[in-house]
Amino acid sequence: MSTEPYLLTPGPLTTSLRTRQSMLRDWGSWDVDFNSITGRIRERLLQIVHGTATHECVPMQGSGTFSVEAAIGTLVPRAGHVLVPQNGAYCQRIARICRVLGRKLTTIDYAENMPVDTADVDRVLRTDASITHVALVHCETSTGILNPLQEVAQVVARHGRGLIVDAMSSFGALEIDARTTPFDAVVAASGKCLEGPPGMGFVVVRREALERCEGNCHSLSLDLYDQWIYMQKTTQWRYTPPTHVVAAFDSAIAQYLEEGGLAARAARYAQNCRTLIGGMSKLGLKSFLPAAIQAPIIVTFFAPDSPRYVFKDFYNAVKARGYILYPGKLTTVETFRVGCMGQLGERGIAGAVEAVGKVLAEMRAAA
Ligand SMILES: *Cc1c(COP(=O)(O)O)cnc(C)c1O
Repeated sequence: MSTEPYLLTPGPLTTSLRTRQSMLRDWGSWDVDFNSITGRIRERLLQIVHGTATHECVPMQGSGTFSVEAAIGTLVPRAGHVLVPQNGAYCQRIARICRVLGRKLTTIDYAENMPVDTADVDRVLRTDASITHVALVHCETSTGILNPLQEVAQVVARHGRGLIVDAMSSFGALEIDARTTPFDAVVAASGKCLEGPPGMGFVVVRREALERCEGNCHSLSLDLYDQWIYMQKTTQWRYTPPTHVVAAFDSAIAQYLEEGGLAARAARYAQNCRTLIGGMSKLGLKSFLPAAIQAPIIVTFFAPDSPRYVFKDFYNAVKARGYILYPGKLTTVETFRVGCMGQLGERGIAGAVEAVGKVLAEMRAAA
C-alpha cells in the first residue's frame, strides 16, 4: 500500500486505508448528510459506554486536551474545587488546566509507577467537604499505567461529588459502563483507541449534570453546554467542524463495530501488548511497570543499559525499518515507549519487535 512507517504511538496512530479514503470528500457543515454523520457518531459513542439513557455526547473541535479543558471549564463551577490524584504527565496537565482556569485545586501525588489509591481519595473527600469534583486519568499514557476507575467512581459517588474521567487512551478499548460506573463526564478523542485521525474530541456527560452548567464556562469556544444546546437545536456544530476528521471518525467507528466492538478491540490490544512485552523481554528489554498495573495501550521500556545506546540513533534506525517509536517521558530513568494501538499491518507488532532486535544488534547495544 505504501512505505510510510507504522506509528507505534498513542495517537496519532496508523489508521486503515478505508479510514483515510473517507477523507477524500468535502462536506458542507450545514448539509443534512454531514449532520446525520455527526448524529450517528454521537449515538454510537454513547452506546459504547452504555450511556444512551442517562448521558449526552458532546463533540468538540481540537485535540484531546481541548475537550479535557472544555469538560473542566464547563462542569466545574467557578467556585468549584477539583481533586486530582496524579501519577503522570496527563494528570499534571489536568492540574495545570485547573490553575489556568482559576478552579481551586488539590492534588494527591504518587510516583509514576504507582496507581492511584482509592483509599487516599476516600480520605481526602471525607476531610474536605469543599471538593466538588474529582478528575481521574484512566490510563496514564505517559507510562501506560492503569488507574482503578471503577473503585474511584464508587467512592466519589458515595461522597456525592462529581467525577471527570480523562479516558483519552482507554475509551473503546477498556470497558467503561455508565450503568455501573457513576461519572459526570468521560473525555476522549478521535485519534486514539477508536483509530480515527486526530482533530476532534468528545465528552460523554451525565445529562442532569450538563443541564446545570449554563454560564459556568470561562471560554466561549470551549463551552460544552453551549455546544450541546446549539447541536440539539440545529444538529450542527456551533463553529466550523473538522469535516474530514468527522467523516473519517465515523468510518473508523463503523470498522470498530464490524471488528466486534470493545471486546474485539480490547483483545487485539491485549494480544499486541503480550507479544510486545514477550518479544522485547527476549531481547533483554524490560518493561517499566509490573503486569498487574500495565494497561494494554502503551508500554514503557527501560533503555538498554549500554554506552552505545543513543535514543535518537535507535529511533532513526527503527524508523528506517518501518516503525516509529515514542520517546519516554520519565525524568529519572531513560526509557522509550511503544504503543499497542492502530492498524499495524500483516506482520503486526511482531514486525516491530523484530526491527528493534535487528537495530540493537547493529548498534551492538543489546541490553
Ligand atoms: C492523548 C491524551 C490526551 C490528549 O492529548 P492531545 O495531545 O491534546 O490530543 C489527554 N490525556 C491522555 C491520557 C492522553 O493519552
